Amino acid sequence: MNLKELYQEIILDHGKNPRNLRKTDNFNKDARGHNPLCGDKVHVYLKLDESKKVQDISFEGQGCAISMASASIMTSMVKGKEEHEVKEIVNDFLEMIKEKETLNTKLLSEDEKTKLMCLSGVKQYPMRVKCATLSWHTLTSAIDKSQNEINMESTEI
Ligand code: ZN
Repeated sequence: MNLKELYQEIILDHGKNPRNLRKTDNFNKDARGHNPLCGDKVHVYLKLDESKKVQDISFEGQGCAISMASASIMTSMVKGKEEHEVKEIVNDFLEMIKEKETLNTKLLSEDEKTKLMCLSGVKQYPMRVKCATLSWHTLTSAIDKSQNEINMESTEI
C-alpha cells in the first residue's frame, strides 16, 4: 500500500465511522459551523476542566466524507490536551493545509501526524479545502467564543 492509498483508507474509515460523533454531557463550550459551498454542518462540544484541559470533545453534524473525517480525526487527537496546546495544533494544521508540506507541532505523536497528513490531499482540490477546515475553525470559535456560527463562505481557507 502506498502513502496515498493509506491516506485514502484512513479518511474513508473516519468518514464512515466518525469517532466522537455524539454530544458531550455537561459541555461548557460549543460552537456551530456551516460550509454552504458543500452543505457541511458541524456542532463542536467541549468540556474543559478547571485547569483548562480538554476532558471531552465531541461533535454532531452531517456532510461529505472529508468534513466528517476531518472532525473525527480532530476530536480524536485533542482530548487530554490543554487549551493552549489545542490552539497550537489547530494553527499548525491550518498552516499545513494552507502552504506547508509538514506539521511542526511537537504535541502530536507520529501516528497522529500521519492521520492529519491524510487531509493534506485536499490541497489539490480547492473546493474541498473548506470541508477539511470547517471543524477546526469551529473548534477555535468554541474555545474563544468568537462567533456563534462559523460560516465558511466568509472564512479564508
Ligand atoms: Zn464537504
